[in-house]
Amino acid sequence: MAKVKSILSEAAQIQLATELIELDARLQVLESETQLSRERLLKLYKEIKKKSPPKGMLPFSTDWFMTWQPNTHSSLFVNIYNVLIKSSDIEDIEAVIKAYRLYLEQISQLGLPEVLSLTRAWRLVKFFDAGMLTTAPCKTCCGNFVVHTYELVNDYVCGLCNMPSRAGKTRQTAAQKFFNEEAGLEH
Ligand SMILES: [Zn+2]
Repeated sequence: MAKVKSILSEAAQIQLATELIELDARLQVLESETQLSRERLLKLYKEIKKKSPPKGMLPFSTDWFMTWQPNTHSSLFVNIYNVLIKSSDIEDIEAVIKAYRLYLEQISQLGLPEVLSLTRAWRLVKFFDAGMLTTAPCKTCCGNFVVHTYELVNDYVCGLCNMPSRAGKTRQTAAQKFFNEEAGLEH
């Protein structure tokens, strides 16, 4: 029985790894979220992607999530993720995958470019878990946006309401439409 159980668990791990690889996750994500050996993960990666995984370290800084466009996309992802986590008892990594797929759907519907990678999304959740990042409500549009925990303020205004001039108005309207719909989903 123990053997059957371990085979089943291994099958589940391979399925999880496959799903992550298909979403372009970096090797570090796979190593952290499965118990499969590095060798097996490498083999699986090559089999699916027909190439070796990219080398190099994962981004460790929270600063990327604060710049204008990444912040909008990260906030969008986190809003979806939080709704999923609150409304079901799925594993964190499953919620990351599910939320990431929904994020991809949303931006494709809105005609926005894919700014947040799965690896970044995963990293973002880790930063939230570590208490380094959190969300703050914008006092103008009431959307929730990613902020540094130490930067929490009462009258926060988001990047969409306080836009840099280089960003287009169409994009603003599209993104704001999304946040309004998301907000509706939570009530
Ligand atoms: Zn706002």
